[in-house]
Amino acid sequence: KLVNIIFPFLVKVRIPLSIMNILKAVDVSRYYKIHKDKVFYALKEFSFTFPNKGLVSICGKSGSGKTTLLNLISLVDKPNSGKIYLFGEDIKKWNKKRINKFRNEEIGIIFQHYNLLEQESALFNIKLPLLIKGISEADADKKVYSLCEELSFDKQKLKEKVSNLSGGEKQRVGILRAVINSPKIIIADEPTGALDSLNSKKTMSLLKEISRNTLVIMVSHNLELVNEYSDVILKIKDGCLCDVVQKEETKGEVVLNNNKKPFLSKNSWVEKQGIKIFKRKTTKNIVSIISLSFGLILSILSIGFKNGSTEATIKTSYRQLDYGVMSVSHEETKEVKGSKISLIQEKCPSQNEIRYLKEEYPELIFTPNLSYFFPRDISLSINEEAIENISYTPIYQFSDEFIDKTLLFLGKTPKNKQEVLINKNAYNLFKKKNLEPLNLIIDIKSVKELVFLTGKEERESITDYFIYEDSVSIVGVVDDFSFLSTPKIYYSYFHSLDVIENSIFQNLSTYLGEEITYYDYLFMCSDDSPIKSYSYYAFKENYLNPEDNLKYTSKRNDNLVFSSMGLERKDACLSLIDISTTGMSVFSFISIIGTMLIVGILSFSSYMEDKKDIAIMFSLGSKSDDIISIYLINNLLISLISMIVAFLSTPILEKLINNILSRICGISNMINIPFMSYLNRPFFLPIIIVLILIIIIFLVTYFTISGSNHISLKEVLKSE
Ligand code: ADP
Ligand code: MG
Repeated sequence: KLVNIIFPFLVKVRIPLSIMNILKAVDVSRYYKIHKDKVFYALKEFSFTFPNKGLVSICGKSGSGKTTLLNLISLVDKPNSGKIYLFGEDIKKWNKKRINKFRNEEIGIIFQHYNLLEQESALFNIKLPLLIKGISEADADKKVYSLCEELSFDKQKLKEKVSNLSGGEKQRVGILRAVINSPKIIIADEPTGALDSLNSKKTMSLLKEISRNTLVIMVSHNLELVNEYSDVILKIKDGCLCDVVQKEETKGEVVLNNNKKPFLSKNSWVEKQGIKIFKRKTTKNIVSIISLSFGLILSILSIGFKNGSTEATIKTSYRQLDYGVMSVSHEETKEVKGSKISLIQEKCPSQNEIRYLKEEYPELIFTPNLSYFFPRDISLSINEEAIENISYTPIYQFSDEFIDKTLLFLGKTPKNKQEVLINKNAYNLFKKKNLEPLNLIIDIKSVKELVFLTGKEERESITDYFIYEDSVSIVGVVDDFSFLSTPKIYYSYFHSLDVIENSIFQNLSTYLGEEITYYDYLFMCSDDSPIKSYSYYAFKENYLNPEDNLKYTSKRNDNLVFSSMGLERKDACLSLIDISTTGMSVFSFISIIGTMLIVGILSFSSYMEDKKDIAIMFSLGSKSDDIISIYLINNLLISLISMIVAFLSTPILEKLINNILSRICGISNMINIPFMSYLNRPFFLPIIIVLILIIIIFLVTYFTISGSNHISLKEVLKSE
């Protein structure tokens, strides 16, 4: 301080090492709480001013606090009290950046158990501190080779993977790594502890060589070696410095490294390391890629379904032959006394109402529903064998262009009354029964017994019969909306009308003395007769624009209600689609979350696997940004590949699933992935997916690696 006040200009000038101490410890203590108010001193009030060069050995029994002292000097651990000065600076005042610089350039640590990146080459391990510093690979290689020359390390071994080297070789690699950046302090915790005597001697002479112009602090049990090589010996007992043996004068001038900043290259080693790690973790990455692709594919397909299903369903639902068949009924709501429930009674509209409707909708054909005589479940048989579950459905007429061009799947359009069409559901039903539907003759029979009350005493009632027997031939199959539909035979309404108009009630006619046709009967009945519970048909001749039907089925303010089986089927289908879309969104959301968890867990586990390597890189002065980048690259590669897999496979899956769905429910193009444009924005979906992936990958990497701040270097690098 005094120096700074007197010579302010000195502040910017580095004080030469010769006039300050590299390392000085003053009353340094490190203790551990072992009980509530009981502490154990691993190191107690340690004070010593280290020489600026030479080999300083620390001796003491196991547990005496030697490693604790080294950890404090190397900033792996912090003292509870006392001060450590490095290069004249109180280390308490150092920030993260200064500490990283210290770790990278000013101290070299040699471990008993080497702590090398086992999967990497010797060369890579030795040059790593240079790469972290920002020196280019080529320059770093050069420097490693010249150092090997200087310290006579076998260059042949440089290319070798560390895990294949012997203990002695590993230790020499560790030493080379420690000195590559020409640090001012070298720390070695029992460097010969795991070596035989020959390798121990080799290691010691290497350290001695280095200590000629560097401070080397070494812990060793081997008193013979300590005595032979050390310049100063510190003896520690129960955490206290108890003896100092000065063997040689070590206060000489220290040769300073030139502190010129090297030309820093971009940190390309980080990217290379990321790719290397990606390649190394093949299995894990494949699992990640599969699960991420799966989640992506599922989401893209469900978006495709959301995008395409409604439109496809509406489009297909128009393909119904009975789309133009509507019915009109008169609905009356009746309150039930003493109950909140009200009954809705459906009746046939009155003739007045029909007249009124005819005026309102001249394009519709209003005609009586003949289902009383021709019910949908009329008895049908083939060769006297009854066929069930096929409904007999009237169609206004068959001469519709619509049928020929778009609906006909097999055969032809009926040209006379004896010819009918069937739908695909019926076609499949016949096929199941091993019947060839085309040109199949179906016998139809309907018999009804009717009792007419005369109101006269001599003959109270007249019993009469409606008897209808006919044969029709199937001439074609229509491929209409088969989903939610049932097997049907479509026949011409006019055929049944013809029958009704031209057949007379025999007994009734005789009794009344005039011809009464079945048709007349429809209009003779009183309101409470069962025939009056049938609605009226409202046929639409030309329904090329099916949306028109909506106009009729919307709510009216009289009691007349239009209904359309086709529309109801469509609505049912749409609500089904709606439910499945919601279900699918939830499902794909869950799957994305699950995928993220899997990727996160895998990323975390691979990070845990590399915990030691990461700790080594930290101890060499790597910034945590660099470490994050390495793992970010790994995760970005995973997501990039998954994305490519997903984008390439979804169009294929789209086709495949559409094919299957169209076979199952008859609706084609249910899935329509909006790659090109979505919500009126070009490439909205791919962009959103890329953005979401990037965010997720950053989050996953950040959360797993941010745990690195909690990595205790001391624990991970501890000599076992
Ligand atoms: P050594 O001289 O064998 O290297 P250390 O410096 O590793 O000894 O340890 C000194 C003492 O501190 C030992 O008795 C050890 O049990 C104790 N110690 C080290 N780390 C912890 C810790 N995290 N908690 C409690 N005691 C510790
Ligand atoms: Mg120890």
